[in-house]
Amino acid sequence: MGSTFQANFDFNDYHRIVFFTGAGISAESGIPTYRGKGGFWNQYDYEEYACQRAFDRDPEKVWEFHEQRRKFVSECEPAPGHRIITEIQHLKPATRVITQNIDGMHQRAGSVHLIELHGSLWRVRCPREGTISENFEIPLRTRRCTCGEYLRPDIVWFEDALDEEILNKAIATILKADLLITIGTSATVFPAAEIPLLALRRRIPSIEINLEETETSRLYTLSLRGSAGQNLRLLRDQSSLPIV
Ligand code: NAD
Repeated sequence: MGSTFQANFDFNDYHRIVFFTGAGISAESGIPTYRGKGGFWNQYDYEEYACQRAFDRDPEKVWEFHEQRRKFVSECEPAPGHRIITEIQHLKPATRVITQNIDGMHQRAGSVHLIELHGSLWRVRCPREGTISENFEIPLRTRRCTCGEYLRPDIVWFEDALDEEILNKAIATILKADLLITIGTSATVFPAAEIPLLALRRRIPSIEINLEETETSRLYTLSLRGSAGQNLRLLRDQSSLPIV
């Protein structure tokens, strides 16, 4: 089934493509993934840097950590995988991207209609007023809102709940998809990991791209082992898309 599907695969046969991405797509930008060898949270204790409790205890320390992350990510470039998704989105404008990443790489590659499930390193939020604004400063000129409250990164930290509106938007988007392509996620962080399952239960055509097998690999029409950029390039090149 998988090999016939792969041989006949053509992006042009689909109109509401959804890419669901995780840390693996940005690994090719040089940004460490979450789990596994070199995994980010194997090196840092989230209880010190990435939860509301840590922020309440020492907001300056948490901001210093996030400013270092901003600096690191700003020195990385979008990877081939991010760029190919943007290319497909230009050719097929109903294509949507749902990402668990907070690094802003999809936007930097030019993607639009992006749903960031876990927030963004490049936005700040006032916990008192709820206002959210884009902010690309490194270091931040001020870490406080005009109301005097410490601004916090607009990121879903450990122990935070997902924003309900964003989650509902992601669910509505995946329920309309006619093709799901899941890239570089271990699919173990919930509730985000539920989202591709909603499409898989509808039995729409689906492709997983990952270096390793995951717990949900067998649920996909086609599960490709290898890098995000290399496999997306293969799928694009065998499709009858116009050359851009
Ligand atoms: P994860 O670290 O749990 O899993 C990464 C997956 O990517 C693994 O299954 C791995 O095999 C695969 N992978 C690694 N390199 C790959 C490549 N070149 N091509 C294809 N696949 C590759 O990450 P996750 O599933 O995204 O969940 C982790 C959570 O941590 C997310 O919630 C995310 O918000 C956060 N996170 C974000 C970033 C980022 O913004 N870049 C980085 C680390 C973690």
